[in-house]
Amino acid sequence: MRKPIIAGNWKMNNTAQQGVTLVKELKPLVSNAACEVVVCVPAIDIPAVAEALKGSNIALGAQNVHFAEKGAYTGEISAEMLKDYGVKYVIIGHSERRQYFGETDETVNLRTHAALNAGLIPILCIGETLAERETGKTEEVLDRQIEQGMKGIDDISKIVIAYEPVWAIGTGKTATAQQANETIGYIRKKVAQTFCPKCAEKVRIQYGGSMNAGNCKQLMAMEEIDGGLIGGASLKSADFSAIVHYDAQGLKLDKDLL
Ligand code: PEP
Repeated sequence: MRKPIIAGNWKMNNTAQQGVTLVKELKPLVSNAACEVVVCVPAIDIPAVAEALKGSNIALGAQNVHFAEKGAYTGEISAEMLKDYGVKYVIIGHSERRQYFGETDETVNLRTHAALNAGLIPILCIGETLAERETGKTEEVLDRQIEQGMKGIDDISKIVIAYEPVWAIGTGKTATAQQANETIGYIRKKVAQTFCPKCAEKVRIQYGGSMNAGNCKQLMAMEEIDGGLIGGASLKSADFSAIVHYDAQGLKLDKDLL
């Protein structure tokens, strides 16, 4: 049984004070959650949010980590520094970092190993662009991201994979539940071939891309989908808590989601 994991990605939003207010609102709303709940916050918010989360069932996540243990890397943050504040998860290879900050499968792989070596759990993001999907390259892109980005990981079930079709992130355009399920099923098959079938059964694979209170139930009902990585809808406590309680939402029979 894979425990579902709903993680918020605040991106570059919320000052430390705003972040503390948000998690203080969120704590009572998700205290009885059946799934694992995570908030991935801007690095500078980590100390204050870590303090505010004490005694709650919400785990703390970061949005990036450098691959070196320490040294002359001005502006960067190491896995050990994150661990020191009780960070448990770290997003690696988000499409925004690939698009705007030169992230490659090679640097994703280095960061993933650094995170695992320090005892952090990577949330490793993969996914195709619209052009890649439209030219039939989705599987080729995912194969490359898995083979190169996850190279050398001993136990793949120790990471969380986030399948985020780039065209669905922040656009309000969700992959249909069927599309997301099929693609995540493909990712699991590829992970089984590349690593081991048992680990592939255990690894949690989230869907990310405009997930919200209206579509979460249908997406989360799919067999292969083990959670969500949530951007925009994680910035308001009521919206995020509605997704955490996805089972309680009315099923939205939107034809786009079928
Ligand atoms: C994300 O940032 O990973 C994401 C999925 O964003 P949004 O939910 O806003 O599409």
